[in-house]
Amino acid sequence: MTNSNPPPVDMSLNLSKVETVLVKTEIETPVRTSFGIMHERPTLVVRVTDASGVRGYGEIWCNFPVRGAPHRQQLVETEIAPFIVGRKFSTPKECYKALNATLHILKLQTGEPGPIAQAIAGVDIAIWDMVARRAEAPVYALFGSERDTVPAYASGINPVGVLDTVERARARGHRKFKVKVGFGIETDRANVEAVAADISDGEFFLLDANQGWLPDDAAEALRWIAPFKPYWIEEPMPVDIPPEDWFALKDMTGIPIAGAENFTVRSEFESVVQHKWLDIVQPDIAKWGGFTECSEVARNVVNSGLTYCPHSLGGGVALAASAHLLAAVGGPGLLECDVNENSFRDEVFEPPLDDGVVKLSGEPGLGVNVGVLDQQFP
Ligand SMILES: [Mg+2]
Repeated sequence: MTNSNPPPVDMSLNLSKVETVLVKTEIETPVRTSFGIMHERPTLVVRVTDASGVRGYGEIWCNFPVRGAPHRQQLVETEIAPFIVGRKFSTPKECYKALNATLHILKLQTGEPGPIAQAIAGVDIAIWDMVARRAEAPVYALFGSERDTVPAYASGINPVGVLDTVERARARGHRKFKVKVGFGIETDRANVEAVAADISDGEFFLLDANQGWLPDDAAEALRWIAPFKPYWIEEPMPVDIPPEDWFALKDMTGIPIAGAENFTVRSEFESVVQHKWLDIVQPDIAKWGGFTECSEVARNVVNSGLTYCPHSLGGGVALAASAHLLAAVGGPGLLECDVNENSFRDEVFEPPLDDGVVKLSGEPGLGVNVGVLDQQFP
């Protein structure tokens, strides 16, 4: 936080409506990860309306399973909206805490901490956007920050056609490129060698295995990858591998290790901040915590000396929210910008990029295209 005395803002809530819409965007090239393929891009948008008539927009992570988005949409409609509409809260945090408290047993009973946390996160983003719009301030300013630029990287680069995708991302202003691995050593090695040879001075490449290796495979992969000096390796192992295996991997490689997009409870973030078995911590604001809890986690990450990098691979509202939170919290972290085809994402928010840096506009709220979003609602 760059300014400890933000101006007073009316943070109170009295919502008259909570609505959702699921937008499916067709794509020509499927998005490939080591665990699954997206043949279309789903975006689950939340719109809240305050009693004063001001609206706010959020987004709920819903990439997987393939038909998992309607379930999250129904969670908002049946479990969240009836609880918060017409109920007064003094702050977004009070609302967030009340929602988590009331849905806690449902999370346990259904074994669905993930989808419920994702639904709450999207509603929380919409609430913060509404409060910021009402105050006619960008969201990052509500957190006392005056920083409006964030360094970024090109993300989600498929294992097929890597260099073409890197070239397109470079032409758009990117200088860091994250390539997917975990597709077998032959494919991985060819792609790592190609991208390492392709990057110029001032450019970097990053790798993301999407939990694709068990500890022995991860160690073996990092041994051959290390000489190519990637900027980081993301999720080399499943999130539920015990910390001692992460420490062992960290000890045997000089490559910074990133992860945490798949943490589902606060204690996991606190554990990593305390014990530091990751170097780069990547909560996804649309997947867990929204602005309310991700801002606390991100601040703790930065204060601990680790690097906070928001995870995002979805639509424009989630991307804008990630950019605002990174601007708000600071540190050396990078904004994840998915460079896979998604026309709806680009219509809602396409971050202006110059030499690898995004500059936020200073418009109220998240600065997303409200006209395009409103057109999606019935
Ligand atoms: Mg990832």
